[in-house]
Amino acid sequence: MKIAIIGAGAAGMMAAAIAAQRLAGAGSDSQVIVLEKNRKAGVKILMSGGTRCNLTHDCGPEGIMEAFGRGGAFLRQALATLSPRDVVALFHSLGVATQIEATGKIFPASNRALDVRDALQGYAERSGAEIRLGCGVRAVRPAPDTGRFQVVLDDETLDFDAVILTVGGKSWPGCGTIGEGYAWMRELGHTVITPRPALVPLVGGEEWMHGLSGLTLDDVEASVWSVPPEGQKRPKKPALTRRGGFLFTHFGFSGPTAMDVSGVITAADSPAQTRLTLDLAPDYSADQIERWFEDQRREGGGRKTLAATHRWFPKRLAEAVGEVTGTADCTLAELPRAKAKALVDSIKNLTLPVSGTRGFDKAEVTAGGVSLKEVDPRTMQSRLIPGLFIAGEILDLDGWIGGYNFQSAFSTGYLAGEHAARHVSEAACPT
Ligand SMILES: Cc1cc2nc3c(=O)[nH]c(=O)nc-3n(C[C@H](O)[C@H](O)[C@H](O)COP(=O)(O)OP(=O)(O)OC[C@H]3O[C@@H](n4cnc5c(N)ncnc54)[C@H](O)[C@@H]3O)c2cc1C
Repeated sequence: MKIAIIGAGAAGMMAAAIAAQRLAGAGSDSQVIVLEKNRKAGVKILMSGGTRCNLTHDCGPEGIMEAFGRGGAFLRQALATLSPRDVVALFHSLGVATQIEATGKIFPASNRALDVRDALQGYAERSGAEIRLGCGVRAVRPAPDTGRFQVVLDDETLDFDAVILTVGGKSWPGCGTIGEGYAWMRELGHTVITPRPALVPLVGGEEWMHGLSGLTLDDVEASVWSVPPEGQKRPKKPALTRRGGFLFTHFGFSGPTAMDVSGVITAADSPAQTRLTLDLAPDYSADQIERWFEDQRREGGGRKTLAATHRWFPKRLAEAVGEVTGTADCTLAELPRAKAKALVDSIKNLTLPVSGTRGFDKAEVTAGGVSLKEVDPRTMQSRLIPGLFIAGEILDLDGWIGGYNFQSAFSTGYLAGEHAARHVSEAACPT
């Protein structure tokens, strides 16, 4: 019996290790063969986290599920099988010590993504899986009347008893992930939710914002609001708010919060149907800030507004906001109430115009993908085609920045490997 795993990324290598172990444990001589188009395995692991690989997050399964929004519940069983703590323990057992950053992100202590990739590849190979590199798959189809599968390569077609599809999404296509799996899945009868970029830098901003290119804000809240059609009520709550770092760039906005909310923007028909706002002082309410300005005025008011706002903004941003609101040169005593209000608004509710994103080329993940309704979350097996398992980013799942996406790939890959092994074992010895 043979299992094909298509794609040697995080999900594929984890699936390979577990499938091979389970088959060996059951005394089976079945083969697990990983077909990878690149000449190296785990290319995205190598480039991840700025080549440091943020492999998971310091939270429980619930925290991981929250990061995936509506898709999160689908991961419950996979995370019960392989939790973030299990991932850390597994990598420790493979010789990769880890460190937790203040944000909760978990990295290898060596800060080398290579160590994570090598550990996972070694784990799969030592478990008995064969990884064939430079082996691009052209198509996957059921073999007529046998319940088996044909996997079409450039110069040959191979037969398998089960297939685990772990080809990833279509983000960062330069490293091989160009979305071929979606067409195969459609041909096999699966629904593919239209793929779109997520965790992607945003394009937009006004000229004065571009002038701030390179400026990082460490602790802000970015929110995306939906903009209703004319005549309809504005929503009271944002569609998504994320707190953390933010970066002004020459083309628009980046950094963890901008990227985390980007998936909500790409989910809209057009960016104009959404509005991005920044709260530059999330620990203070607008009332508290207004009162603070009042107190400052009462205490003398001779102080320049710019110097006072520097408390809320880094100097470069304070100067830019001062220019835009026309408050840069006046003292607090001279600050008219309307301008003080505009200033507080800029602190609590700065609107950042967004015209688009950097697209799949610069997206860290793909949102959309194989519909979760057609995959059994207890096994990762297709509900339409027995023997076909689907794991990792090709599924309609996308999480925040912070190690959540690798955790999802590892957990779904683990479950797929385990159940694909069971599937072929049961097919070999039907009861
Ligand atoms: C720049 C960048 C940084 C990132 N940093 C992080 C991070 O620090 N932490 C985090 O959690 N997530 C991070 N991510 C996201 C993370 O890399 C993905 O979510 C994760 O790799 C998905 O794993 P996967 O195994 O499903 O797919 P992939 O890792 O994309 O693996 C799919 C594999 O399938 C292969 N393949 C594709 N088509 C074929 C074919 N036709 N035939 C054979 N093989 C094929 C590909 O070459 C690839 O090796 C980052 C992504 C990018 C782009």
